[in-house]
Amino acid sequence: MQQSRKRLFISLLMFSLLALVLISIFAWWLVSQQNFFINQIILTSVVVLIVVAFFLIGGSIVALVFSIWRSTSNHSLNIIMRKVSKILFPIALQIGKWFGLEKDIIKNSYIQVSNQLVELEKKQVAPENILILAPHCLQRVECNHKISVNVNNCKQCGLCPVGDLLTLSKEKNVQLVVATGGTFARKFIRERRPQAIVAIACERDLTSGIQDVEKIPVIGVVNERPEGPCHNTRVNLCAVERAIDKLTLKGV
Ligand code: SF4
Repeated sequence: MQQSRKRLFISLLMFSLLALVLISIFAWWLVSQQNFFINQIILTSVVVLIVVAFFLIGGSIVALVFSIWRSTSNHSLNIIMRKVSKILFPIALQIGKWFGLEKDIIKNSYIQVSNQLVELEKKQVAPENILILAPHCLQRVECNHKISVNVNNCKQCGLCPVGDLLTLSKEKNVQLVVATGGTFARKFIRERRPQAIVAIACERDLTSGIQDVEKIPVIGVVNERPEGPCHNTRVNLCAVERAIDKLTLKGV
């Protein structure tokens, strides 16, 4: 089984290389044989496509800056801007790394931009359709209560933020789940079908999560890690409450 899995990936790598070689040969043939009419049409179409893509991406970046500056936006524009920032994100990350910027700082900035785009949409969501998605690392390591099975198993002893999150979720009438990883987070989203999510996690998980569920508005709240990553983490409850209020339009 292990062998066939490795073979699959290596075969895909070889096919990728073959595809790159074929594309390069085709591009070279197009450029070197410009006398053929069909080549001229293909070359012109490719150039037009590239120019259109640049205009779309450039326009989206200008719209993004304008939206943030003027604090205004609309739904369709938001979808395009979110898609473009998702496409350009790995490039921005790489460029940031060349400039010596820490990955988490860049990801945190991406989360803030994404949050603002969601907030600017001013989409009013009923509280019961909002899901707080909390990470398992908020739970005190010594605690044995199975809160990822059912968060109501929490005894609200006050040793970790889960008890307060549970109180907040009840006060605000929103749903709360504790996920032990990305697979469970996706499972909860499939089952609960929320119309908006308040996600608590580290920069890495939030960035990938926001990009994963691009159809559902997500406000990300970065957790605090006083004892290091994935271990007895904390969260700013006021930030979670603010996020809920933004989605229900109470904080606008
Ligand atoms: S607040 Fe809940 S989850 Fe946290 S340690 Fe106490 S019982 Fe466990």
